[in-house]
Amino acid sequence: MTYIELSDIQHYYKQEQVLRNVALEIPKGQLFGLLGPSGSGKTTLVKIMIGLLEPKKGEVLVNQVPMPSLEAMQHIGYMAQSDALYNELTARENLDFFASLYKMKKKDRSKRIEEVAAMVDLTKHLDKTVEHFSGGMKRRMSLAVALIHEPDLLILDEPTVGIDPVLRDSIWSDLKKLQQQGTTIVITTHVMDEAEKCNQLGLLRDGYIIAQGSPDELRKQSETSTLEAAFLYYGQQKSEV
Ligand code: ADP
Ligand code: MG
Repeated sequence: MTYIELSDIQHYYKQEQVLRNVALEIPKGQLFGLLGPSGSGKTTLVKIMIGLLEPKKGEVLVNQVPMPSLEAMQHIGYMAQSDALYNELTARENLDFFASLYKMKKKDRSKRIEEVAAMVDLTKHLDKTVEHFSGGMKRRMSLAVALIHEPDLLILDEPTVGIDPVLRDSIWSDLKKLQQQGTTIVITTHVMDEAEKCNQLGLLRDGYIIAQGSPDELRKQSETSTLEAAFLYYGQQKSEV
């Protein structure tokens, strides 16, 4: 079943076109990666996917519902590229606040806060104010916030930037676990070894999806041995058209 469907998405900021004819279908339960360099349009595209931004043209369906939809938002967890946390509150207070936005009951909230804190390894820091957190701890907090209401769809915009390799691995194994439980995950990255861990990739360059497929398929079709070389190959193909 298709969970996210984008057709002919175009977006402009003032005169500058940043997304061009983007069409994507992401099946339910998939771990989908949007791979592209800085400025290629990843953040703009994920904001459009969840209805935070309305495209100038094109249509977005999430679980067959046209976006933006408040109801659909209830089932989406979004981790933005920059952390949006209340610095003067503790980690627990932050999580409790976001849980209350989703109208979770007080009792369920405290249990769920412990669960998500354990997932991102912040249990020991739950009662510290977020202003004292390192950059990596804030990223982990943002991930915990995105997970608080057990979303069916998780959208993560460069979630592991500033996170050390050990914790990065542990976050990836958590993502795989969530996927096994049926969560659909969309992640943006510019890092090849992360892209390697996704089921399917959309390669984004200058606002175009230049290729789509599994990491293996993308390498095979381009007769290259690395994703990096494959990316360059598809970029070249696009320029020649
Ligand atoms: P990425 O996440 O891949 O780095 P973005 O979607 O953030 O890409 O940006 C795509 C392009 O749109 C870039 O050229 C960026 O400078 C531009 N852009 C992004 N946000 C805005 C904005 N709010 N106003 C004007 N230009 C923007
Ligand atoms: Mg971005």
